Amino acid sequence: MLPAAAARQNPPPTPQSAELAVVFEQVSVRFTTERGTVTALERIDLALPRGSFLTLLGPSGCGKSTLLRVIADLIEPASGRATVLGDRPQVARQNRDIGFVFQDAALLPWRSALQNVALPLEVGGGKAKAGPRSARDLLQLVGLGGWENAYPHELSGGMRQRVAIARALVSGPKLLLMDEPFGALDEITRDRLNEELLQVWMSTGTTIVFVTHSIYEAAFLGQQVLLLAARPGRVRELVQVDLPVPRQLAMRESAEFVALAAHLRRVLEGC
Ligand code: ADP
Repeated sequence: MLPAAAARQNPPPTPQSAELAVVFEQVSVRFTTERGTVTALERIDLALPRGSFLTLLGPSGCGKSTLLRVIADLIEPASGRATVLGDRPQVARQNRDIGFVFQDAALLPWRSALQNVALPLEVGGGKAKAGPRSARDLLQLVGLGGWENAYPHELSGGMRQRVAIARALVSGPKLLLMDEPFGALDEITRDRLNEELLQVWMSTGTTIVFVTHSIYEAAFLGQQVLLLAARPGRVRELVQVDLPVPRQLAMRESAEFVALAAHLRRVLEGC
């Protein structure tokens, strides 16, 4: 049995809609190709409180990236309704309330770290709003103080991802979507970035939705872990993680964390 302190399966009290960053009501997404129709998401319900940290965990093809893309207004549901920051996803996108970080940092090689972070403020004729923190402050926040003038080829993979996180935060988004951002990094670097990301989350108050294949990453980062099953992509379980914050890596050796990871693994094996 899983200790109650680490996780519980009952949903927390439902917050009022104004306090919710993302709401999905019976959201389904289908893709039609020459090979037929794939149901990438089937009747997904979700109510994500503002300021929270949700991790999405599940096998390849269970719809994790599709779910992020619905939030980001890159895909429209076939049925059901998605609400982001109290309005249609399109409104959140147009207001630049959403930041995105992918597995590939995709920095411009001819621009310094600082210039890469500032880039979103320049596109669209420089009309983009700046967030509460400057590009320089954000580089400091992600542990790259002193590296402002370095070019991407001078930075390690982990440092490039730090720049990508700072860039995603420069317009002060209320919602940060992260699609396996540390998936290509070695384990030690990933661990360090996990700890740092939690600090960024706590100091900015940004709501984060984070896709991962890693049980340990999902459990360490998330306040909630949404477990998805494939074909069709559907919710298997929403697990509340009651581990205290701030979290340090050593916490992964605690009985609570080990039991939580074992629980997530059991559910995943049934997916
Ligand atoms: P995950 O991120 O969990 O690996 P995805 O969201 O990428 O899963 O994909 C979910 C399902 O939808 C998969 O079966 C995938 O092949 C299919 N799919 C995703 N995007 C497209 C697309 N643009 N066209 C056709 N099928 C797609």
